[in-house]
Amino acid sequence: MDEFRDGTAKQPEETPSNFVRAIIDGDLQSGKNGGKVVTRFPPEPNGYLHIGHAKSICLNFGLARDYRGVCHLRFDDTNPGKEDVEYEDSIQEDVRWLGFDWGDHFYHASDYFEKLYEFACELIRQGKAYVCSLNAEEMREYRGTLTQPGKESPYRNRTVEENLDLFQRMRAGEFPDGAHVLRAKIDMASPNLNMRDPVIYRIRHESHHRTGDAWPIYPMYDFTHCISDALEGITHSICTLEFEDHRPLYDWVLDQLPVPCHPQQIEFARLNINYTVLSKRRLIELVTGGYVSGWDDPRMPTLSGIRRRGYTPAAVRNFCERVGVAKRDSCVDMGLLEFCLREDLEKNAPRAMGVLRPLKLVIIDYPEDKVEELEAPCHPSDASMGTRTVPFARELYIERDDFMDDPPPKYFRLAPGREVRLRYAYIVRCVEVIHDDSGEVVELRCTHDPATLNAAPADGRKVKGIIHWVAARHALDAQVRLYDRLFDVEDPCADKSVDYKTHLNPHSLEVLDGCKVEPSLRDAASGRCWQFERLGYFCPDSRDSAPGHLVFNRAVTLKDSWAKIDKSRK
Ligand code: ATP
Ligand code: MG
Repeated sequence: MDEFRDGTAKQPEETPSNFVRAIIDGDLQSGKNGGKVVTRFPPEPNGYLHIGHAKSICLNFGLARDYRGVCHLRFDDTNPGKEDVEYEDSIQEDVRWLGFDWGDHFYHASDYFEKLYEFACELIRQGKAYVCSLNAEEMREYRGTLTQPGKESPYRNRTVEENLDLFQRMRAGEFPDGAHVLRAKIDMASPNLNMRDPVIYRIRHESHHRTGDAWPIYPMYDFTHCISDALEGITHSICTLEFEDHRPLYDWVLDQLPVPCHPQQIEFARLNINYTVLSKRRLIELVTGGYVSGWDDPRMPTLSGIRRRGYTPAAVRNFCERVGVAKRDSCVDMGLLEFCLREDLEKNAPRAMGVLRPLKLVIIDYPEDKVEELEAPCHPSDASMGTRTVPFARELYIERDDFMDDPPPKYFRLAPGREVRLRYAYIVRCVEVIHDDSGEVVELRCTHDPATLNAAPADGRKVKGIIHWVAARHALDAQVRLYDRLFDVEDPCADKSVDYKTHLNPHSLEVLDGCKVEPSLRDAASGRCWQFERLGYFCPDSRDSAPGHLVFNRAVTLKDSWAKIDKSRK
């Protein structure tokens, strides 16, 4: 049995099969790659990871785990200007948080700049690459369209010597940005536009966050990626479907060059989730435009955002597994992500009581200065989680909507003259309702039945409602942040004629001050969730919560809270 970094154990055979596993099984059977499995996760360090990346991480690292192989973490850092160490740090933190470990296999595409340059010179020497001096607009024109073949560049037949000379001078920084590019010489009439003499190097006088000003030229993704894979001995290079049309180029480059191996590129469908966006460009825009509070805003689909919100690594991995790996694009319901979190927290989150919108309840026949320390289980069905004590006293707070002056039929909570059970405590009856001048209920006065402390009434009368509460004097103040979907339509990008940001949900954040939580939460630290009974799962905010100043995020609501509470009492 193997373990994830967060201590969760998992049997390899628990992972459902998929078409990628089928390919690898076949390769292992035929003895390809010497029986090895080496994968990689290759993020570009130009943003924070999101839940879509989690799918790729779980797939690549999961394959390495299950096939006793390795998975590399490689930063695909060939776009200076947009990339940053802040992003690199966050990406490493997120991969580790998900429970995966790259060991010593930590790389940067920029580690290969010198080798990539050598391979480019090799292509030139073979007459398979040339320096082209068309400007960007001419290039587009010459490229042709899906229905029309391209035209050959007038620079296509430069001699090897001239190309080598120009390319060396490009490297030496002699030319301004855009003056020349290096192109592979393949086929301007190819039906695949990626094969029409693609650019493999461009001039960019821009500092790189690792190589500084050493390079005024940078290799393009399609040239860099396949060679990096080959240099690292990757066996299966797994990427998303949009690279399917790039595969012929991936293979072409490796076929021309004396690389140590020829990895197999395999494409799978990227993850899409409704009511959010999973594109780095848009996520950056939400952050820099101040539409959210940062990359780790708990409404963001970033791993840092959902972590802050209270998601667990196990829930995210489970989600990725359920979504599966397929060849066809699809959109997954946000509800599935929430379901996976609930499933984890239902089992693992300790229980507590908190009141979001407090209403005072005074038990008039309970002594002023009496306090009972009532014992409550931390989990209704897992005794190993132990118990906690909850103070009970004359003045309590209950949830405002657990009382109605004039209740409809089937309302089993508190109302004038009615009885309800206080969770883990007594049955109380509302004998008086105090209103303020505006008619709002400000206090309930109740009597209690002392014989019903965690016991059914002796006379057999039925009391259906059970509500949560906290003792007024003992409760801790807290701020609670409730979250809803970031967008109020399923696919905010569907209609290209309107800005997707117009679909931002104005009610995605609701901040409740003056909430009350039970005293056992005094030292609640971030990184774990509690179930506030009947309300959902809450975790202390990692930025803003501190002992004495509690701030809770609601990670996810509870479904069927009534059904669950009724069951747990039986
Ligand atoms: P974006 O399109 O949002 O800019 P990207 O694909 O350019 O994302 P990278 O940093 O290059 O971001 O991604 C690293 C890896 O994660 C790639 O292998 C990519 O295929 C994969 N990946 C990115 N987004 C998704 C997604 N939504 N579902 C599955 N895999 C993804
Ligand atoms: Mg990318």
